[in-house]
Amino acid sequence: MVKNITVLKGDGIGPEIVNEAIKVLDKIGEKYSHSFKYTEVDIGGCSIDKHGVPITKEGMELCKSADSVLLGAVGGPKWDSVDPSIRPEKALLAVRSELGLFANLRPTKLFAQLADSSPLKESIVGNGIDLMIVRELTGGIYFGDRRTEVVDGEKVAVDEMKYSEHEIERIGRVAFESARKRSHRLASVDKANVLDSSRLWRAVMHRLAEEYSDVEYSDVLVDNAAMQLIKNPSQFDVIVTENMFGDILSDEASMLTGSIGMMPSASLSDSTLGMYEPIHGSAPDIAGMDIANPIGTIMSCAMMLRYSFDMVKEADDIEAAVNKALDDGYRTADIYKDGFTKVKCSEMGSIIAANI
Ligand code: NAD
Repeated sequence: MVKNITVLKGDGIGPEIVNEAIKVLDKIGEKYSHSFKYTEVDIGGCSIDKHGVPITKEGMELCKSADSVLLGAVGGPKWDSVDPSIRPEKALLAVRSELGLFANLRPTKLFAQLADSSPLKESIVGNGIDLMIVRELTGGIYFGDRRTEVVDGEKVAVDEMKYSEHEIERIGRVAFESARKRSHRLASVDKANVLDSSRLWRAVMHRLAEEYSDVEYSDVLVDNAAMQLIKNPSQFDVIVTENMFGDILSDEASMLTGSIGMMPSASLSDSTLGMYEPIHGSAPDIAGMDIANPIGTIMSCAMMLRYSFDMVKEADDIEAAVNKALDDGYRTADIYKDGFTKVKCSEMGSIIAANI
């Protein structure tokens, strides 16, 4: 099978981790006789430096025409003071919106081999953590109208949070379907005691819950969800929530697993086109040192194979190869402890590829 992948390496550690993910994909291609063809497009700060914009129109077209998109990370202090209209993150929002990537899937898994890396006590994480956050990605406050105006002599800033029924329903369906593929439990997180947008969210979710009666459904207020993730994370299986709540809760959840470098994500559309990226940023503090953890990006490729290319065996193979590398005691600096073998980013990529 031939698959065209548009590769957005981006800034900071982006190129380092994506190179390792490509090493692993190539090994899968070799083993299963698939041909992965990569087209590189500049994104973020490196694109601002070269082209004056965080992504060019041609680059965007190459994302739209691909079978899927692989992203490293964008941004860094060098571009913190550029004009807000061309900031590196603008490119990410633009790609999500142009590709219609409305559903962000973030699995949060505490690998058994890294159980003592979790900041939570053994008594809390002893049963393991394996949950999936389904975050709405193209609506809500990040895409609403925003303005700053002067009222009675002082500045007032307004950010609008807006959701329509169809936006809620389509993310709800992704979440209920995900729950069906896992342990049939779904928690919908909102702030329905205060926000109108949350009350509509809840009403639509309740309608869907009747349709998906085989899924055990619950409502959780976002402030309580933030607490419960720390108090008893294993109570959750699939969590669905709106854009900003999902942004915050998924970062909180990722930290329960010890390192942000381990966590993958998938952003999905109505079609099979998706964008796959680790959840972390460009880590400027360690960029260029070959010490970043490439596992989040490699696991994102497993999600790409599973969700965009329907290559289930191949995805399982990547996940098993990562597990074996951890079982064999290999650790990048972020997850290293005495008694294990410390490896560089490029070594971890090669070890995982060799396990395939
Ligand atoms: P960050 O995720 O880049 O880094 C936070 C901490 O985690 C740092 O100490 C970093 O060294 C560490 N870290 C992150 N990824 C790692 C990995 N793979 N291996 C080992 N350690 C890792 O977050 P930040 O420092 O807040 O942001 C840095 C830049 O990234 C900012 O410009 C921010 O806007 C941008 N950012 C981009 C994305 C994205 O591209 N999707 C997401 C978040 C932040």
